[in-house]
Amino acid sequence: MGWGLGGLKMHKLILKPGREKSLKRRHPWIFSGAVARVEGDPAVGDTVEVRSSAGEFLAVAAYSPHSQIRARVWDWRERAIDGDFFRERIAQALNMRSALLEGGSTDAVRLVHGESDGLPGIVADRYGDTVVVQFTSAGAERWREDIAEALQGLPGMGRVWERSDAEVRELEGLPLRSGLLHGTPLPERLAIREHGLEFVVDLEHGHKTGFYLDQRDNRLRLRALARGRDVLDCFCYSGGFTVNALAGGARSVTAVDSSSDALGLARTNAELNRLPAAQWLEADVFQALRSFRDQRRDFDLIVLDPPKFAPTAAHAGKAARAYKDINLLAFKLLRPGGVLMTFSCSGGVATDLFQKIVAGSALDAGVQAQIIERLGPGSDHPVALNFPEGDYLKGLLCRVAG
Ligand code: SAH
Repeated sequence: MGWGLGGLKMHKLILKPGREKSLKRRHPWIFSGAVARVEGDPAVGDTVEVRSSAGEFLAVAAYSPHSQIRARVWDWRERAIDGDFFRERIAQALNMRSALLEGGSTDAVRLVHGESDGLPGIVADRYGDTVVVQFTSAGAERWREDIAEALQGLPGMGRVWERSDAEVRELEGLPLRSGLLHGTPLPERLAIREHGLEFVVDLEHGHKTGFYLDQRDNRLRLRALARGRDVLDCFCYSGGFTVNALAGGARSVTAVDSSSDALGLARTNAELNRLPAAQWLEADVFQALRSFRDQRRDFDLIVLDPPKFAPTAAHAGKAARAYKDINLLAFKLLRPGGVLMTFSCSGGVATDLFQKIVAGSALDAGVQAQIIERLGPGSDHPVALNFPEGDYLKGLLCRVAG
């Protein structure tokens, strides 16, 4: 054990020979197979100094003894990890988002996007005056209080609500947990603004941290395309795309989701914005698309925003079949000149694979189609170039020949 900054004894994680390569490219994960030995006695989540087999300093990282990802890098320089570190990183992350919040038409953004913001295992979303935080690594958990205080200290924040109930925590040996972490109790009803529209968000039970903030700009894109169109919104959740299509002057919107709670929220959100009702359909999308086909129904504009079919590359085969199925059916339901907005949020399905699947779907549906735009998450969900795993959301806007 050596002496680190400030005279503190630093635990050390020593890599096997040759295993420093990915760290030198600044990939922030150290897998268990790369570790030769640990010197000292770090507790779960403690900071360790990472060194090559030759003793060269590489990074300071958080130790996760129960995870295959044995350590996650906090910094590439020799520095102390403490409350100040988190305050600095969070302030930097907020700075990069300030333009999004200017003008007031949007008050819900992702403040901290994990590894891509240099804060592995930490996600923080701002919903009005509430920050919802999720800790998914031992290191993040170790600094839970300091991070909560730093978030609460941001201008105008009323409370920090924790949603550490993502199953990935189990891979780190951490219990699932949610509830108030700091500040005043949650208001009975919380509504956010996104590009001028309002949405009620269920922070306690909603998906992710409550809302799919990553789709903000794609929903606005749909609004611009919707005038006079018959729109089908598949996997509508709390109505993000549907409400935008209605606000954009769609002739009709059919919104499908298998969750009655999600549809209830979606209905509330359409009413909140004083928009005409959509046709709400509680159904399995795979079946609904088949019955529309059998009924010979057709649409001008279809959105496919399914849940993550492939969390990792190991699920890619099965996921590919599911994507193929819904995209093929959607192409069949489009009128000539119609537009498909199709997404995959699967980390395990790369952008080029997704494009191949969509191409195969058009081919088998017997339609000629072109990509007219490539879509991705908003700028509050950056992808660090040294962390390609962060590139999970991809979308294509495709037009079928007229
Ligand atoms: N487009 C939404 C987010 C979609 S999240 C937005 O912009 O907010 C995925 C949704 O798919 C969830 O609401 C979930 O309830 C729903 N879902 C998952 N599997 C489904 C299935 N087989 N059929 C219908 N809905 C499904």
